[in-house]
Amino acid sequence: MTATEKPNLAGLSLDKLRALFVEAGEKPFRAEQVMKWIHQRGVLNIDAMTDISKALREQLKQTTQISLPKVLQDYVSEDGSRKWIIEVASGSSVEMVFIPEAGRGTLCISSQAGCSLDCSFCATGKQGFNSNLSVAEIVGQLWWANHELGGFDGSAGRPVSNVVMMGMGEPLLNFENVMDSVNIMMEDNAYGLSKRKVTISTSGVVPAIDRMQDYTDASLAVSLHAPNDELRSQIMPINKKYPISELLRSVRGYMASLPDKRLPVIEYILIKGINDHREHARELAELLSTFSCKINLIPFNPIALSDFRRPSSSSIARFRQILQAAGFTVTVRTTRADDIGAACGQLVGKVEDHTRRSSRHKRRANAAQESAKVFDSTDNLAVAADRL
Ligand code: SF4
Repeated sequence: MTATEKPNLAGLSLDKLRALFVEAGEKPFRAEQVMKWIHQRGVLNIDAMTDISKALREQLKQTTQISLPKVLQDYVSEDGSRKWIIEVASGSSVEMVFIPEAGRGTLCISSQAGCSLDCSFCATGKQGFNSNLSVAEIVGQLWWANHELGGFDGSAGRPVSNVVMMGMGEPLLNFENVMDSVNIMMEDNAYGLSKRKVTISTSGVVPAIDRMQDYTDASLAVSLHAPNDELRSQIMPINKKYPISELLRSVRGYMASLPDKRLPVIEYILIKGINDHREHARELAELLSTFSCKINLIPFNPIALSDFRRPSSSSIARFRQILQAAGFTVTVRTTRADDIGAACGQLVGKVEDHTRRSSRHKRRANAAQESAKVFDSTDNLAVAADRL
Protein backbone atom coordinates (compact mmCIF):
# COMPACT_ATOMS: atom_id res chain seq x y z
CA MET A 1 0.00 0.00 0.00
CA THR A 2 1.44 3.44 -0.90
CA ALA A 3 1.26 6.49 1.35
CA THR A 4 -1.33 8.09 -0.88
CA GLU A 5 -3.66 5.12 -0.52
CA LYS A 6 -3.67 5.25 3.26
CA PRO A 7 -6.80 6.82 4.74
CA ASN A 8 -6.21 10.48 5.56
CA LEU A 9 -7.30 11.07 9.15
CA ALA A 10 -7.65 14.83 8.50
CA GLY A 11 -10.38 14.20 5.93
CA LEU A 12 -12.60 11.70 7.74
CA SER A 13 -15.92 12.65 9.30
CA LEU A 14 -16.56 11.40 12.83
CA ASP A 15 -18.64 8.47 11.55
CA LYS A 16 -15.89 7.43 9.14
CA LEU A 17 -13.21 7.78 11.79
CA ARG A 18 -15.26 5.63 14.17
CA ALA A 19 -15.73 2.99 11.47
CA LEU A 20 -11.98 3.00 10.87
CA PHE A 21 -11.20 2.35 14.54
CA VAL A 22 -13.90 -0.27 14.95
CA GLU A 23 -12.59 -2.09 11.90
CA ALA A 24 -9.14 -2.03 13.49
CA GLY A 25 -10.56 -3.65 16.64
CA GLU A 26 -10.37 -0.40 18.67
CA LYS A 27 -12.97 1.44 20.71
CA PRO A 28 -14.98 4.00 18.68
CA PHE A 29 -14.14 6.83 21.15
CA ARG A 30 -10.61 6.86 19.70
CA ALA A 31 -12.24 8.75 16.81
CA GLU A 32 -13.18 11.68 19.11
CA GLN A 33 -9.64 11.75 20.49
CA VAL A 34 -7.97 11.86 17.09
CA MET A 35 -10.47 14.39 15.77
CA LYS A 36 -9.79 16.73 18.71
CA TRP A 37 -6.04 16.47 18.23
CA ILE A 38 -6.22 17.38 14.56
CA HIS A 39 -9.08 19.87 14.39
CA GLN A 40 -9.15 21.45 17.86
CA ARG A 41 -5.48 21.44 18.82
CA GLY A 42 -4.02 21.63 15.33
CA VAL A 43 -1.74 18.62 15.92
CA LEU A 44 -0.76 16.61 12.83
CA ASN A 45 1.98 14.51 14.41
CA ILE A 46 0.59 11.16 15.59
CA ASP A 47 3.45 10.78 18.10
CA ALA A 48 2.18 13.91 19.90
CA MET A 49 -1.28 12.40 20.51
CA THR A 50 -0.41 11.40 24.04
CA ASP A 51 -3.78 10.11 25.24
CA ILE A 52 -3.50 7.29 22.68
CA SER A 53 -1.40 4.26 23.55
CA LYS A 54 2.03 3.99 22.00
CA ALA A 55 1.09 0.75 20.28
CA LEU A 56 -1.97 2.29 18.65
CA ARG A 57 0.04 5.35 17.59
CA GLU A 58 2.55 3.03 15.88
CA GLN A 59 -0.30 1.22 14.17
CA LEU A 60 -1.84 4.52 13.00
CA LYS A 61 1.51 5.63 11.61
CA GLN A 62 1.77 2.41 9.62
CA THR A 63 -1.77 2.31 8.28
CA THR A 64 -2.96 5.92 8.00
CA GLN A 65 -1.71 9.39 7.13
CA ILE A 66 -2.49 12.96 8.11
CA SER A 67 -2.11 15.17 5.10
CA LEU A 68 -3.26 18.72 4.38
CA PRO A 69 -2.81 20.94 1.34
CA LYS A 70 0.21 23.28 1.30
CA VAL A 71 -0.05 27.05 1.67
CA LEU A 72 1.90 28.61 -1.22
CA GLN A 73 1.27 32.29 -0.61
CA ASP A 74 -0.23 34.58 1.99
CA TYR A 75 -1.52 38.08 1.19
CA VAL A 76 -2.68 40.70 3.66
CA SER A 77 -5.13 43.36 2.49
CA GLU A 78 -5.07 46.96 3.66
CA ASP A 79 -8.44 46.30 5.30
CA GLY A 80 -7.05 43.40 7.36
CA SER A 81 -8.47 40.61 5.17
CA ARG A 82 -6.17 37.71 4.31
CA LYS A 83 -5.94 35.58 1.21
CA TRP A 84 -4.05 32.31 1.08
CA ILE A 85 -3.19 30.37 -2.05
CA ILE A 86 -3.22 26.66 -1.46
CA GLU A 87 -1.80 23.86 -3.56
CA VAL A 88 -4.03 20.82 -3.96
CA ALA A 89 -3.16 17.28 -5.00
CA SER A 90 -4.18 17.78 -8.64
CA GLY A 91 -1.36 20.34 -8.98
CA SER A 92 -3.76 23.28 -9.23
CA SER A 93 -3.91 25.97 -6.61
CA VAL A 94 -7.03 27.46 -5.06
CA GLU A 95 -7.71 30.49 -2.93
CA MET A 96 -9.37 31.09 0.41
CA VAL A 97 -10.12 34.40 2.04
CA PHE A 98 -10.53 35.49 5.66
CA ILE A 99 -12.59 38.60 6.33
CA PRO A 100 -12.42 39.99 9.88
CA GLU A 101 -15.32 42.14 11.03
CA ALA A 102 -16.49 43.49 14.37
CA GLY A 103 -17.58 40.47 16.41
CA ARG A 104 -16.94 37.84 13.77
CA GLY A 105 -14.45 36.41 11.30
CA THR A 106 -15.65 34.85 8.06
CA LEU A 107 -13.65 32.36 6.04
CA CYS A 108 -14.59 31.96 2.38
CA ILE A 109 -13.58 28.45 1.28
CA SER A 110 -13.08 26.85 -2.15
CA SER A 111 -14.56 23.48 -3.06
CA GLN A 112 -13.18 22.89 -6.58
CA ALA A 113 -10.11 23.84 -8.59
CA GLY A 114 -11.85 25.90 -11.26
CA CYS A 115 -15.52 25.53 -12.08
CA SER A 116 -17.41 24.01 -14.97
CA LEU A 117 -20.39 26.37 -14.82
CA ASP A 118 -18.99 29.50 -16.50
CA CYS A 119 -21.10 32.24 -14.93
CA SER A 120 -20.29 35.33 -16.95
CA PHE A 121 -19.37 37.58 -14.00
CA CYS A 122 -16.99 35.12 -12.31
CA ALA A 123 -13.21 34.88 -12.66
CA THR A 124 -13.16 31.24 -11.50
CA GLY A 125 -15.64 30.20 -14.19
CA LYS A 126 -13.43 31.67 -16.90
CA GLN A 127 -10.62 29.28 -15.94
CA GLY A 128 -12.52 26.12 -16.76
CA PHE A 129 -12.45 23.11 -14.47
CA ASN A 130 -9.66 20.95 -13.13
CA SER A 131 -10.72 18.88 -10.12
CA ASN A 132 -12.88 18.43 -7.07
CA LEU A 133 -11.14 19.11 -3.77
CA SER A 134 -10.93 16.25 -1.28
CA VAL A 135 -12.43 16.55 2.22
CA ALA A 136 -8.95 17.18 3.67
CA GLU A 137 -8.37 19.91 1.08
CA ILE A 138 -11.65 21.62 1.95
CA VAL A 139 -11.48 21.27 5.74
CA GLY A 140 -7.74 21.88 5.47
CA GLN A 141 -8.53 25.49 4.53
CA LEU A 142 -10.26 25.99 7.89
CA TRP A 143 -7.38 24.19 9.63
CA TRP A 144 -4.85 26.53 7.97
CA ALA A 145 -6.82 29.65 8.79
CA ASN A 146 -6.95 28.62 12.45
CA HIS A 147 -3.25 27.78 12.38
CA GLU A 148 -2.31 31.13 10.84
CA LEU A 149 -4.68 33.22 12.94
CA GLY A 150 -3.88 31.77 16.38
CA GLY A 151 -7.04 29.70 16.66
CA PHE A 152 -5.34 26.53 17.89
CA ASP A 153 -3.18 27.90 20.67
CA GLY A 154 -6.04 29.98 22.06
CA SER A 155 -4.11 33.22 21.58
CA ALA A 156 -6.84 34.70 19.35
CA GLY A 157 -9.99 33.09 20.78
CA ARG A 158 -12.01 31.77 17.86
CA PRO A 159 -10.81 33.80 14.87
CA VAL A 160 -13.04 31.98 12.36
CA SER A 161 -16.65 32.14 13.55
CA ASN A 162 -18.33 31.77 10.13
CA VAL A 163 -17.59 29.70 7.05
CA VAL A 164 -19.08 30.37 3.64
CA MET A 165 -18.61 27.93 0.76
CA MET A 166 -18.39 30.80 -1.72
CA GLY A 167 -14.81 30.47 -2.92
CA MET A 168 -13.78 28.73 -6.12
CA GLY A 169 -16.13 26.10 -7.51
CA GLU A 170 -19.74 25.01 -7.21
CA PRO A 171 -19.93 23.17 -3.86
CA LEU A 172 -22.87 20.98 -4.82
CA LEU A 173 -20.98 19.56 -7.81
CA ASN A 174 -18.53 18.12 -5.25
CA PHE A 175 -21.40 16.88 -3.14
CA GLU A 176 -20.09 14.08 -0.90
CA ASN A 177 -16.82 15.83 -0.06
CA VAL A 178 -18.56 19.10 0.73
CA MET A 179 -21.15 17.37 2.92
CA ASP A 180 -18.45 15.56 4.91
CA SER A 181 -16.48 18.80 5.18
CA VAL A 182 -19.30 20.92 6.55
CA ASN A 183 -20.17 18.16 8.98
CA ILE A 184 -16.58 18.22 10.32
CA MET A 185 -16.77 22.02 10.56
CA MET A 186 -19.96 21.74 12.65
CA GLU A 187 -18.83 18.71 14.71
CA ASP A 188 -18.36 19.47 18.43
CA ASN A 189 -15.21 17.31 18.52
CA ALA A 190 -13.75 19.37 15.69
CA TYR A 191 -14.47 23.07 14.99
CA GLY A 192 -17.95 23.14 16.55
CA LEU A 193 -19.26 25.89 14.29
CA SER A 194 -22.97 26.64 14.49
CA LYS A 195 -25.15 25.37 11.65
CA ARG A 196 -26.31 28.96 11.26
CA LYS A 197 -22.73 30.03 10.64
CA VAL A 198 -21.75 27.49 8.02
CA THR A 199 -23.27 28.42 4.67
CA ILE A 200 -23.26 26.44 1.46
CA SER A 201 -23.69 28.74 -1.51
CA THR A 202 -24.97 27.29 -4.77
CA SER A 203 -25.62 28.54 -8.25
CA GLY A 204 -28.65 26.25 -8.29
CA VAL A 205 -27.84 22.56 -8.78
CA VAL A 206 -31.42 21.52 -8.09
CA PRO A 207 -31.05 17.71 -7.70
CA ALA A 208 -28.22 18.27 -5.21
CA ILE A 209 -30.25 20.80 -3.18
CA ASP A 210 -33.00 18.18 -3.09
CA ARG A 211 -30.52 15.68 -1.58
CA MET A 212 -28.98 18.03 0.97
CA GLN A 213 -31.52 17.45 3.73
CA ASP A 214 -30.37 13.83 4.05
CA TYR A 215 -26.79 14.95 4.76
CA THR A 216 -26.69 18.29 6.55
CA ASP A 217 -28.58 21.14 8.18
CA ALA A 218 -26.10 23.87 7.23
CA SER A 219 -27.38 27.24 6.04
CA LEU A 220 -28.01 27.90 2.37
CA ALA A 221 -27.32 30.82 0.04
CA VAL A 222 -28.46 30.88 -3.58
CA SER A 223 -26.84 32.85 -6.37
CA LEU A 224 -29.85 34.19 -8.23
CA HIS A 225 -28.44 37.32 -9.91
CA ALA A 226 -31.43 37.88 -12.23
CA PRO A 227 -35.19 38.25 -11.75
CA ASN A 228 -36.26 36.20 -14.79
CA ASP A 229 -35.17 33.10 -16.70
CA GLU A 230 -34.23 34.91 -19.88
CA LEU A 231 -31.67 37.17 -18.22
CA ARG A 232 -30.49 34.53 -15.76
CA SER A 233 -29.80 32.06 -18.57
CA GLN A 234 -27.69 34.70 -20.30
CA ILE A 235 -25.42 35.29 -17.30
CA MET A 236 -25.67 31.87 -15.63
CA PRO A 237 -25.81 28.97 -18.10
CA ILE A 238 -26.96 26.57 -15.36
CA ASN A 239 -30.35 28.28 -15.48
CA LYS A 240 -31.04 26.64 -18.85
CA LYS A 241 -31.01 23.31 -17.06
CA TYR A 242 -32.58 24.33 -13.75
CA PRO A 243 -34.83 27.37 -14.22
CA ILE A 244 -35.80 29.73 -11.43
CA SER A 245 -39.14 28.10 -10.54
CA GLU A 246 -37.47 24.71 -9.98
CA LEU A 247 -34.67 26.33 -8.03
CA LEU A 248 -37.01 28.16 -5.66
CA ARG A 249 -39.11 25.03 -5.20
CA SER A 250 -36.02 23.07 -4.26
CA VAL A 251 -34.70 25.72 -1.84
CA ARG A 252 -38.12 25.91 -0.15
CA GLY A 253 -38.00 22.14 0.34
CA TYR A 254 -34.57 22.26 1.97
CA MET A 255 -35.46 25.14 4.27
CA ALA A 256 -38.67 23.35 5.32
CA SER A 257 -36.61 20.28 6.27
CA LEU A 258 -34.53 22.21 8.84
CA PRO A 259 -35.51 21.75 12.47
CA ASP A 260 -35.25 25.48 13.22
CA LYS A 261 -36.63 28.47 11.37
CA ARG A 262 -33.99 29.93 9.09
CA LEU A 263 -34.11 31.95 5.91
CA PRO A 264 -32.05 31.31 2.79
CA VAL A 265 -29.97 34.19 1.49
CA ILE A 266 -30.60 35.25 -2.09
CA GLU A 267 -27.36 36.58 -3.56
CA TYR A 268 -27.69 39.15 -6.33
CA ILE A 269 -24.63 40.57 -8.07
CA LEU A 270 -25.39 44.03 -9.42
CA ILE A 271 -23.83 44.54 -12.86
CA LYS A 272 -24.12 47.92 -14.50
CA GLY A 273 -26.60 47.99 -17.36
CA ILE A 274 -27.23 44.24 -17.14
CA ASN A 275 -29.41 43.48 -14.11
CA ASP A 276 -29.44 46.71 -12.09
CA HIS A 277 -32.40 48.62 -13.55
CA ARG A 278 -35.36 49.72 -11.45
CA GLU A 279 -37.53 47.25 -13.42
CA HIS A 280 -35.21 44.41 -12.40
CA ALA A 281 -35.60 45.34 -8.74
CA ARG A 282 -39.38 45.46 -9.08
CA GLU A 283 -39.43 42.14 -10.95
CA LEU A 284 -37.22 40.58 -8.27
CA ALA A 285 -39.56 41.82 -5.53
CA GLU A 286 -42.50 40.31 -7.39
CA LEU A 287 -40.68 37.00 -8.00
CA LEU A 288 -39.81 36.64 -4.32
CA SER A 289 -43.04 38.05 -2.93
CA THR A 290 -44.12 34.65 -1.57
CA PHE A 291 -40.59 33.33 -0.92
CA SER A 292 -39.22 33.94 2.59
CA CYS A 293 -35.60 35.02 2.31
CA LYS A 294 -33.01 37.67 2.95
CA ILE A 295 -31.44 39.42 -0.01
CA ASN A 296 -27.75 40.23 -0.26
CA LEU A 297 -26.75 42.64 -3.03
CA ILE A 298 -23.17 42.35 -4.24
CA PRO A 299 -21.80 45.22 -6.32
CA PHE A 300 -19.83 43.62 -9.17
CA ASN A 301 -16.07 43.47 -8.66
CA PRO A 302 -13.95 43.96 -11.79
CA ILE A 303 -12.23 40.86 -13.20
CA ALA A 304 -9.95 40.15 -16.13
CA LEU A 305 -11.58 38.91 -19.36
CA SER A 306 -14.83 40.74 -18.63
CA ASP A 307 -16.11 44.16 -19.60
CA PHE A 308 -18.84 44.14 -16.95
CA ARG A 309 -18.83 47.16 -14.67
CA ARG A 310 -20.00 48.04 -11.21
CA PRO A 311 -23.12 50.21 -10.93
CA SER A 312 -22.89 53.65 -9.31
CA SER A 313 -23.55 53.98 -5.59
CA SER A 314 -26.82 55.74 -6.36
CA SER A 315 -28.06 52.86 -8.57
CA ILE A 316 -27.14 50.37 -5.85
CA ALA A 317 -28.98 52.44 -3.23
CA ARG A 318 -32.02 52.76 -5.50
CA PHE A 319 -32.13 49.00 -6.16
CA ARG A 320 -31.93 48.32 -2.44
CA GLN A 321 -34.59 50.86 -1.61
CA ILE A 322 -37.10 49.29 -4.03
CA LEU A 323 -36.62 45.90 -2.39
CA GLN A 324 -36.81 47.32 1.11
CA ALA A 325 -40.00 49.17 0.23
CA ALA A 326 -41.42 45.79 -0.83
CA GLY A 327 -40.71 44.46 2.67
CA PHE A 328 -37.42 42.56 2.20
CA THR A 329 -34.42 42.57 4.52
CA VAL A 330 -31.63 43.67 2.21
CA THR A 331 -27.91 43.96 2.83
CA VAL A 332 -25.31 45.32 0.47
CA ARG A 333 -22.01 43.46 0.66
CA THR A 334 -19.14 45.78 1.36
CA THR A 335 -16.30 45.19 -1.03
CA ARG A 336 -13.35 43.80 0.90
CA ALA A 337 -9.84 42.76 -0.08
CA ASP A 338 -10.05 43.88 -3.72
CA ASP A 339 -6.46 45.19 -3.39
CA ILE A 340 -5.30 41.55 -3.14
CA GLY A 341 -7.74 40.19 -5.74
CA ALA A 342 -9.84 38.50 -3.09
CA ALA A 343 -13.17 40.27 -3.43
CA CYS A 344 -16.28 38.32 -4.33
CA GLY A 345 -16.02 36.79 -7.84
CA GLN A 346 -12.30 37.55 -8.17
CA LEU A 347 -10.78 34.28 -6.91
CA VAL A 348 -8.65 32.52 -9.49
CA GLY A 349 -5.77 30.46 -8.08
CA LYS A 350 -3.99 28.54 -10.81
CA VAL A 351 -6.04 25.93 -12.57
CA GLU A 352 -4.87 23.45 -15.14
CA ASP A 353 -8.02 23.64 -17.22
CA HIS A 354 -9.41 20.27 -18.30
CA THR A 355 -11.97 22.02 -20.48
CA ARG A 356 -11.17 24.43 -23.33
CA ARG A 357 -12.95 27.27 -21.62
CA SER A 358 -10.00 29.32 -20.38
CA SER A 359 -8.35 29.48 -23.81
CA ARG A 360 -11.71 30.28 -25.43
CA HIS A 361 -12.24 33.22 -23.05
CA LYS A 362 -8.70 34.47 -23.67
CA ARG A 363 -9.18 34.29 -27.46
CA ARG A 364 -12.43 36.24 -27.21
CA ALA A 365 -10.84 38.88 -24.98
CA ASN A 366 -7.86 39.25 -27.33
CA ALA A 367 -10.17 39.62 -30.32
CA ALA A 368 -12.16 42.25 -28.43
CA GLN A 369 -8.95 44.11 -27.56
CA GLU A 370 -7.83 44.13 -31.19
CA SER A 371 -11.22 45.41 -32.21
CA ALA A 372 -11.01 48.12 -29.55
CA LYS A 373 -7.59 49.24 -30.85
CA VAL A 374 -9.02 49.83 -34.32
CA PHE A 375 -11.79 51.94 -32.90
CA ASP A 376 -9.38 53.78 -30.59
CA SER A 377 -7.57 55.00 -33.66
CA THR A 378 -10.79 56.58 -34.89
CA ASP A 379 -11.14 58.23 -31.50
CA ASN A 380 -14.51 56.63 -30.98
CA LEU A 381 -14.07 54.89 -27.63
CA ALA A 382 -17.76 54.74 -26.90
CA VAL A 383 -18.45 52.68 -29.99
CA ALA A 384 -15.47 50.45 -29.18
CA ALA A 385 -16.83 49.78 -25.72
CA ASP A 386 -20.13 48.71 -27.21
CA ARG A 387 -18.33 46.20 -29.38
CA LEU A 388 -16.44 44.61 -26.48
S1 SF4 B 1 -20.06 31.92 -9.70
FE1 SF4 B 1 -19.70 29.95 -8.68
S2 SF4 B 1 -20.84 28.48 -9.95
FE2 SF4 B 1 -20.59 30.33 -11.21
S3 SF4 B 1 -18.68 29.97 -12.38
FE3 SF4 B 1 -18.12 31.08 -10.49
S4 SF4 B 1 -17.52 29.47 -9.05
FE4 SF4 B 1 -18.71 28.49 -10.69
